[in-house]
Amino acid sequence: MKILLVEDDKALAEGLATSLRDAGLLVEVAADGRTADFQVSTERYDAVVLDLGLPDGNGTQWLSGWREQGIDLPVLILTARERWSDKAAGFSAGADDYVTKPFETAEILFRLRALVRRAHGHAHPVIRVGDIALDTHAAQVTRSGMPVALTAQEFRLLSHLIHAAPRVVSRTELSEHVYDGDQEPDSNVIDVQVSRLRRKLGSSTIETIRGQGYRMAGGEPA
Ligand code: CA
Repeated sequence: MKILLVEDDKALAEGLATSLRDAGLLVEVAADGRTADFQVSTERYDAVVLDLGLPDGNGTQWLSGWREQGIDLPVLILTARERWSDKAAGFSAGADDYVTKPFETAEILFRLRALVRRAHGHAHPVIRVGDIALDTHAAQVTRSGMPVALTAQEFRLLSHLIHAAPRVVSRTELSEHVYDGDQEPDSNVIDVQVSRLRRKLGSSTIETIRGQGYRMAGGEPA
């Protein structure tokens, strides 16, 4: 899961980014609307956390522009306490959810996971494909009810495949959502990680679709 955090308060941005990264998310930070505008237009994110008070305009104005361009990713706005009018403006501009400052980092994390799950069409917090279950709230994977130990990167890769299932996910899409921008892998790295996941989850759980990418093999016994 890759998040763009748009926040001009440097200490707040760094603190939140660190906590979200510790939880296994990829986080890029933009300190103003113009930078965020460039990033959402050129990179793929799973969600945006958007502060409303930015140095180059209100976050709602930037958000309206993104929605007009058809950029449909989930947006969680950060608003100052007691400013109901801010929340209303945020929703009217196309926000999906909000959190009031000061906030608990865990709340942002839970809301982001729910937003991303919903964006993929999943209402239930546990997404099941065959005997594999991803608990999106607890960020845990089980196979036939038994917890599977995964590295942060393996978890991101598998989580993206499970969210997208039964769709085929290209290597390009995986590299955009699973790896940091400055460490974009060649497809060999992805192949190696998929092999490791197959060893942990069962060899037939992730299918290779020649020339297209990967997908979760639904329902088949491992
Ligand atoms: Ca601000």
